[in-house]
Amino acid sequence: MSNKTLAILKPDCVRKNLIGKVVSQIQEAGFKVSGLKMVHLTEDSAKGFYEVHSERPFFNDLIAYMTSGPCVPIALEKENAVEDFRKLIGATDPTKAAEGTIRKLYAESIQENIVHGSDSDENAAKEISHFFTRKELLEINGWK
Ligand code: ADP
Ligand code: MG
Repeated sequence: MSNKTLAILKPDCVRKNLIGKVVSQIQEAGFKVSGLKMVHLTEDSAKGFYEVHSERPFFNDLIAYMTSGPCVPIALEKENAVEDFRKLIGATDPTKAAEGTIRKLYAESIQENIVHGSDSDENAAKEISHFFTRKELLEINGWK
């Protein structure tokens, strides 16, 4: 099992000035920040990131949303990171997300849902490398 996952604070999170609140909730849940930056995704980069959804009816809207402003990718480390992070953010549709989850607290809609979380160890590794070089990531186990 990997101990890494990728979060993205999506453009609606940045616009609503919620970066601090959401990062704080993530850290209080035991995740360590290994890498963090603010980027404005290009269309090509967003399409590459969400390639698995390219045939879905919401794909074009998703790309427009994800390129509508800057977002904040965050490489996270924790035991059981992928599963625990999905639990912390809640269901894709905020009306179905559990109480206290980040999406339940802050998301507007199934599209504008504040935060991304990787869905498997394999995808976490790919997604982290979409945004970060190895040198940009702290080796958490080396922290003293
Ligand atoms: P998750 O982000 O929970 O892993 P998916 O991987 O299924 O969800 O979808 C990726 C993103 O696409 C969602 O977070 C959301 O922003 C958007 N999305 C998913 N389903 C829909 C939908 N039915 N209508 C509009 N946007 C959607
Ligand atoms: Mg997904």
